[in-house]
Amino acid sequence: MPRRRRSGHGQGKEGSGYTAAPRYPGPVNEALANQTATPQTTADQAADPPVPAPSDEQWRARLGPDQYQVLRHGATEPPWSGRYVHHHEDGTYRCVGCGAVLFSSSNKFDSGSGWPSFYEPATAEAVELRTDKSHGMVRTEVVCRACGGHLGHVFDDGPAPTGQRYCINSLSLDFADD
Ligand code: FE
Repeated sequence: MPRRRRSGHGQGKEGSGYTAAPRYPGPVNEALANQTATPQTTADQAADPPVPAPSDEQWRARLGPDQYQVLRHGATEPPWSGRYVHHHEDGTYRCVGCGAVLFSSSNKFDSGSGWPSFYEPATAEAVELRTDKSHGMVRTEVVCRACGGHLGHVFDDGPAPTGQRYCINSLSLDFADD
């Protein structure tokens, strides 16, 4: 077998020389182009590169020291210490790590626990629930689905309409009025 030639024209893989359809006229090539056109377009649209997760060093740089301990290491701020415990303005609470919308002021209530409390997240997809067996307890941890940052825990002793109490660290949140 002859030595394989490098195909192409000396350009890189970035696709700058990419030609979408064969240029040869004729029914065979037209049929081929029509067959492949739709799948190629779909594949191209799906090819958005995934955003790499920040490294530990990047999280340290992005967050304050207390925020970093809560979001990245599951720490809990002392009760009554957080800036949103007694916060009652209308607006949206976002993840301080990544900006994802997590909770709405319309779902916030005074739990008396010393932490901001909500009876549900802004959307079910905003948070992820994980079993947490640390500290000799079995609790349900609440994390930001977008960045994996620790937010707090959810308990079944909340008010109507859900009966849930999302007990969330102020340090994980960033409020903005609507
Ligand atoms: Fe996040």
